[in-house]
Amino acid sequence: MADIQECPYVNRCGGCHIGMESYEEELAHKQKWIEENIGKYCRVNAISGMYYPYHYRNKVHAVFGHIKDEAIAGMYEEGTHNIVPIKDCFIEDKQAAAIIETATHLINSFKIWTYNEDTGRGVMRHILIRKAMSTKQIMVVIVTACPEFPHKNNFTDELRKRHPEITTIVQNINGQDTTMVLGERNKPLYGDGYIEDVLCGLRFRISPNSFYQINSAQTQVLYKKAIQAAALTGNETIIDAYCGIGTIGMAMASKADKVIGVELNAQAVKDAKANAKRNNINNIHFINADATEYMTHMSENDRRADVVVLDPPRSGTTEEFAKAAALVKPSRIVYISCNPETLGRDLEYFRKTGYKAQEAWGVDMFPFTDNAEVVVLLSVEAII
Ligand code: SAH
Repeated sequence: MADIQECPYVNRCGGCHIGMESYEEELAHKQKWIEENIGKYCRVNAISGMYYPYHYRNKVHAVFGHIKDEAIAGMYEEGTHNIVPIKDCFIEDKQAAAIIETATHLINSFKIWTYNEDTGRGVMRHILIRKAMSTKQIMVVIVTACPEFPHKNNFTDELRKRHPEITTIVQNINGQDTTMVLGERNKPLYGDGYIEDVLCGLRFRISPNSFYQINSAQTQVLYKKAIQAAALTGNETIIDAYCGIGTIGMAMASKADKVIGVELNAQAVKDAKANAKRNNINNIHFINADATEYMTHMSENDRRADVVVLDPPRSGTTEEFAKAAALVKPSRIVYISCNPETLGRDLEYFRKTGYKAQEAWGVDMFPFTDNAEVVVLLSVEAII
């Protein structure tokens, strides 16, 4: 395992807490945190950490600003709007960091003004790099405050010349007074305007605004655990609740009879349908609905599922969801959680509806941050 790394920005940038303890100590803390929250319900297997827990972020963002006459790129200092110019971040992808450095240099040489939040003047706001770890495609998104982008062609030509690994460059326009990085309008300046990655043998299109897990290697570890836990035979009907762009359901589809993905966000459902088509998966259907309402509706029509998979946001799920899941009578439930605290609360809801946690597996998706993912297998209590 790797050594403690010293980061000069620790305590300032707020992006992670590297250097405070070794990675081994951190994993031990995460294991304890998971056990404290769910250990009373089931056995918790040892957390799967990363062999090399650095430079794992496939999505890297920096905000542009000026110090005196010089453009800089970095992160906001924790709790303030001062920009800390960051170099050599330990958790971000290295190629992405190098591209951000070049882009900042080009802003200076072309004398383009960075955006000033207080006055609302200036052009360059943010830069976002997304890298497909499997195909190595790289997307650069330059966020401007207005549609005009001075020296646009020379800027993109020069950036590509210095970084031939870039496969697409997009201008995103965000004129709003907001903390959101991206606006709604995207203008491809070079290439297709999106990249494609391969995850669990499936191809996914990633646009500037798409949700995509930021640690590709550990996402595959996580999904593998979830697939194993579901113990699929090929005959199952699966509900993939809170399915997002459909990654988990699609990874399970070849091992099941059919999959129904349920997701509240209409754009994510659109992306999910396009992804299924691209991968020629015909036994998956996506429904744009609230997962609880959908399962309740299924049960009213005497429809049932063999497996319910859920991957809710950090806030977890609800007692109503647990009740609705029980109504479709799955023999097993696979809960993928990104928050052990809400998971502990939710396992109690499931217990009350007759589903008992059997086993849990922790996966470290975000080394050096306060997050841990957990997969839990629940099954219906034997009737004595
Ligand atoms: N499983 C996906 C995304 C999980 S993120 C993946 O791994 O890529 C959680 C998702 O739950 C988000 O896409 C959010 O839009 C969705 N969501 C939140 N509340 C919901 C609800 N009540 N019903 C269905 N989906 C919901």
